[in-house]
Amino acid sequence: MPCIRFRAAISARTEGDRLPPEVTPEELDAHLATCLDCRRWAKHVRTLREATDALLLSRKRTGAPPKPV
Ligand SMILES: [Zn+2]
Repeated sequence: MPCIRFRAAISARTEGDRLPPEVTPEELDAHLATCLDCRRWAKHVRTLREATDALLLSRKRTGAPPKPV
């Protein structure tokens, strides 16, 4: 399966969303175990996610309205 199909799944899992129907968690883990590019991508997505969380948290502390979903 080409990497591109896993990228959406990696992103979804990082966001806490459901995986796309064509990718099972087992398939995703198996792919990540063998694909360096996707492991790098997963790390990148997680880093962005954490940066976003930190930003939202700091906004919450300053009393600014949270970002609409
Ligand atoms: Zn890959």
